[in-house]
Amino acid sequence: MRIIFATTNPGKVREVREALRNFGIEVLPLKKGKIPPPEERGETFCENAYEKATYYAKVLNEPVLAEDSGLEVDALGGKPGVYSSRFAGEGATDEENNRKLIEELKKLGLDSSPARYVSFLFLAFPEGMGLWSSGTVEGKVITSLRGEGGFGYDPLFIPEGYEKTMAELPLDEKNKISHRGRAIRKLVKLIKEVKSW
Ligand code: IMP
Repeated sequence: MRIIFATTNPGKVREVREALRNFGIEVLPLKKGKIPPPEERGETFCENAYEKATYYAKVLNEPVLAEDSGLEVDALGGKPGVYSSRFAGEGATDEENNRKLIEELKKLGLDSSPARYVSFLFLAFPEGMGLWSSGTVEGKVITSLRGEGGFGYDPLFIPEGYEKTMAELPLDEKNKISHRGRAIRKLVKLIKEVKSW
């Protein structure tokens, strides 16, 4: 089976490709700049993943997987949430978003806060049907950057039960426990059920 993954985030492509390889599912990223992206208007991860996947599945006439994910920090009332990729402003880099997160925690006099990563996946078929799944990983965010792996907020996020940040864990270890890894495994189960109908 071949799936187009509607993202331009190379970190996400690496993780999803690695996770689905074992299940014989080939993941192809969207070709950059070929199709104008839909505006991300949703107030939930679920809405954004659904909108993106159905939009591209119709335009490309192929099964398309889309993901919306982010970090919810308790001390910030759940922010950055759906605004995770643009926390420090439209087009912000990971470094800028991380700096903003550290600043916001420090403003509150905090060195850490409970937090979680959330991932919603939607696999849309061009005929109009779809499958969805979600995953979360609980943990905490800290105010000093540690590690070179992963992407986004990984150097600031320590998963529950670990001493290391996500950026200090090897990719296969991150996939085992991450929000995205969990959501992917659930989605694979659903794909298998549908294929055996
Ligand atoms: P999206 O592409 O709009 O779904 O943006 C997701 C954003 O959430 C990313 O740009 C990161 O800032 C953050 N994020 C989601 N998943 C992860 C992860 O696994 N590690 C670190 N940051 C993540």
